[in-house]
Amino acid sequence: MKCPFCGSLKDQVIDSRPIEHTSAVKRRRECSECKKRYTTFERPEEISLMVVKSDNRREPFDRKKIWSGIDRACRKRPIAAETIDKMVNEIENELMGEYVMEIPSSLIGEKILEKLWGIDLVAYIRFASVYRKFADIDTFMQELKKLKKEHAKRLTKD
Ligand SMILES: [Zn+2]
Repeated sequence: MKCPFCGSLKDQVIDSRPIEHTSAVKRRRECSECKKRYTTFERPEEISLMVVKSDNRREPFDRKKIWSGIDRACRKRPIAAETIDKMVNEIENELMGEYVMEIPSSLIGEKILEKLWGIDLVAYIRFASVYRKFADIDTFMQELKKLKKEHAKRLTKD
């Protein structure tokens, strides 16, 4: 880092903390020459995490896509924007933790389903019907059966 006061390239990191929900890090530095302190924000040069689609095309990981997929499924459901944010953050963190370079897109879909299952069954089935494109009516009915059972279970729990 170049000291903004004297231009020296020698400094010491005094404090380093990650910025929540991002891969950026905030660092407090002290110039070794003039002893003045300054703060830097650093983010890794876009680690290009790639998503591998079912037809093997690759595209850069885009958290906005996850967000809009979930948002669409949750439309008009009693789900707060913060809840959606939280889901997206969890998914992103899990993916970043588990995958280094490439993520199969199918896995992202499954993770979204997993989260929605825990939040709202209507949103779940909406997302599932788009994502899984239920090949036939039997698959769809199977999924509905599973939902009905789960729904009943949740009702008795309340
Ligand atoms: Zn300095």
